[in-house]
Amino acid sequence: MRKQIAAANWKMNLTMEQGEKLMDEIIAGDIALKEHQLAVFAVPFPYLINVKNKTDNVNNFYTAAQNCASEKAGAFTGEVSVEMIKSIGINYVVIGHSERREYYNETNELLAKKVNLALDANVQPIFCCGEPLQIREANTQNAHIEKQLEESLYHLSAEAMNGFVIAYEPIWAIGTGLTASSAQAQEMHAHIRTVLANKYGEDVANSISILYGGSVKAANSAEIFSQQDVDGGLVGGASLVAAEFINIIKSLS
Ligand code: PEP
Repeated sequence: MRKQIAAANWKMNLTMEQGEKLMDEIIAGDIALKEHQLAVFAVPFPYLINVKNKTDNVNNFYTAAQNCASEKAGAFTGEVSVEMIKSIGINYVVIGHSERREYYNETNELLAKKVNLALDANVQPIFCCGEPLQIREANTQNAHIEKQLEESLYHLSAEAMNGFVIAYEPIWAIGTGLTASSAQAQEMHAHIRTVLANKYGEDVANSISILYGGSVKAANSAEIFSQQDVDGGLVGGASLVAAEFINIIKSLS
């Protein structure tokens, strides 16, 4: 059974004190996750160890980095390598979030390097893809996503792709309050799975968790997560509110 994941993306929000309080409130929510269900918290670098100390105490809770360097090590002042992340016991990293693509010019080719470094270090990427509004309006979103997957992931072996995690995040729905309808999400997730099946075979495609991201909140998560090819969500704004994120985690199917 493929993993169903509720992933929080705190982005550049909260102080350490606020973050710890939020984690304590979420943990107090008494969430009983099934074997195939995970809650993952992508937090700012300075908070990784503290948050990991908390998620370590909860069944199927994990901590993730929001980014990693595209180089292995060396004279790259201000960067954080995936080996550093791994060395503190972190096993997930978000790669290719649309904000990184847009504000830091991260290209598909650069993201391929990050994905390789993460897999080499045994850190699971949560690889983000998604189309901007003008691409959706031109109805060319399928080709756009295919190109992102092709240029960042298709060099990987079927073994590396087995159990991989992808987040489909239509950019027009991130932080805007606009959500793709559950039918729109299902349609794209099914397309992504078909494309992956053509490349890697049905078994591998069916093992890949495809999360939806874009204004997911407690009020819409159950419906979105109930779609056949939606395996949970990557959640920004609503992950900063304990009651919201508790209910989002609880709506994993
Ligand atoms: C995100 O940060 O990946 C995201 C989807 O944000 P929001 O839930 O706020 O739209």
